Order: sequence, then structure tokens, then C-alpha cells
Amino acid sequence: MNEELKQHATRIAEILQEQGNPYKRVEIDHGGIKIVSTDAFEPIKRSQHHKCFICGEPADLQLDDGQWECGNCAQIAAELSEEDER
Ligand SMILES: [Zn+2]
Repeated sequence: MNEELKQHATRIAEILQEQGNPYKRVEIDHGGIKIVSTDAFEPIKRSQHHKCFICGEPADLQLDDGQWECGNCAQIAAELSEEDER
């Protein structure tokens, strides 16, 4: 593969990743580009396999301090902090 092709391929991979779908196979020929198959669809956040720092379940909320928290624990924490204010 020549350098120019490599650069384009890298860019295409970046775009797919930005769209949260890095597992598409694409075929490029003189007719253009087409998607051959989708190996998996996984939103980027999930594909990084973050774990909740409280319960260890898959987490999709990142806290200000960089730790990850699942929806359940976030809700519990919110309820607890509301009680503190009372
Ligand atoms: Zn949790």
C-alpha cells in the first residue's frame, strides 16, 4: 500500500471510530468505497470496558475525578447526597 493510500485508510478508520462504529469492513476500488460488513456495533464508551468503581459493573458515566460509575450507583449517590443536604 502506498503512503497516500495509507493516509486515506487511516482517516477513514478515524471517521468510523468518531461515529462510534470502528468495526466496519470497507472495500475500496475504482468505483469508490462500500461497506462490506459490520463485524460488531459497540458504542465507543462500552468498548473501552470501564468498570464502576463502586460495584464493578460496566460503567458509562465518567466522574470529574476520572473514575467511572454505573447508572445504578450514580442514582444511589445522588439520592445519598440529597439526604445530606437535608
Ligand atoms: Zn455501580
